[in-house]
Amino acid sequence: MLPSIVNVAEENGLKINPRTLKQKEVLCKCPFCLADANDPKKYYLSLNLKENIYKCWYCKESGGVLQFESSVTGKPFQEVKEKYFGKNRKKYHPAEMLSPKQLALINWDEVKRNHFEEYKKSLQTVIADWKAHVREQRILAFAKLLIGIETMKYSIVIENIKKQAEDVQIPTLVEDVLSMYSCTQWEEWALEGRIIAGVAYKTAKQESKELENALIYVSLAFYQAINDHSQQKQFERVG
Ligand SMILES: [Zn+2]
Repeated sequence: MLPSIVNVAEENGLKINPRTLKQKEVLCKCPFCLADANDPKKYYLSLNLKENIYKCWYCKESGGVLQFESSVTGKPFQEVKEKYFGKNRKKYHPAEMLSPKQLALINWDEVKRNHFEEYKKSLQTVIADWKAHVREQRILAFAKLLIGIETMKYSIVIENIKKQAEDVQIPTLVEDVLSMYSCTQWEEWALEGRIIAGVAYKTAKQESKELENALIYVSLAFYQAINDHSQQKQFERVG
C-alpha cells in the first residue's frame, strides 16, 4: 500500500498551508527550490491527494509519492519502494530497479506507463540503455575530475560532479570516478575521459582563457565526441 502524499509531507516536517488541508490540492512550502521560503503567503508545492502526486509551480519538480519520499528524505528510490512493498516478494530484473526519473532520462518512462507489455519485453534493452547512459556520464565526470586536478580546482569540480550526479540520477557518480582515478589501471571509459580532458585543456589554453574555464570546454569536447560517435554509428548502419 502506498502512503498518502500529505502524510509523507507531514512526517517530514514540510510546512503546509493549513487553509488548503481539506482541499483536493494541498499546498506547502517547496523543499526543493525554497523559492517561497521568504514569503509567508506563498506555497509553491502542490500535493494532489487523489493522484498522490506532487508538483512545484516554481521549479517544476514533480513525480509520484515514492519519488517524493525519496527526494524529501534523501533515501534512494529503491529503499523507499522496499519500505512499502517489501524486499523479497519476487526477483526483479535490474531494469525494474530503475526509478521513474532514471527511466525518463533514457526515454523509457512513457513506454512503461503506456505500453507496459512492450516495456516488460524490453527489459534487456532498457538496462543496456541505462548502462550506456552511466558510461557516458562517467566519461564526462572523469574528464571534469582530471581538469580539476590539473588546474587545482578540485573542490569546485567535485561540487560540479555532485550536481551532475543529481541531474543524471546516478547517486554513485562521484564515488565511481574517484575510485577509478585511484586505480592503477584505468578502464576504457576513464581513458575516454582523459582524451576529452586533453582536448578541453588544449582548447582552453589556445583561447588563452583562464584555465578554470576549462570546465566549459570539457562539456564542449564531450558533446563533440558523443556526436562524432553517434554519427559514426549511423555511417556504420548505412554502410
Ligand atoms: Zn520548487
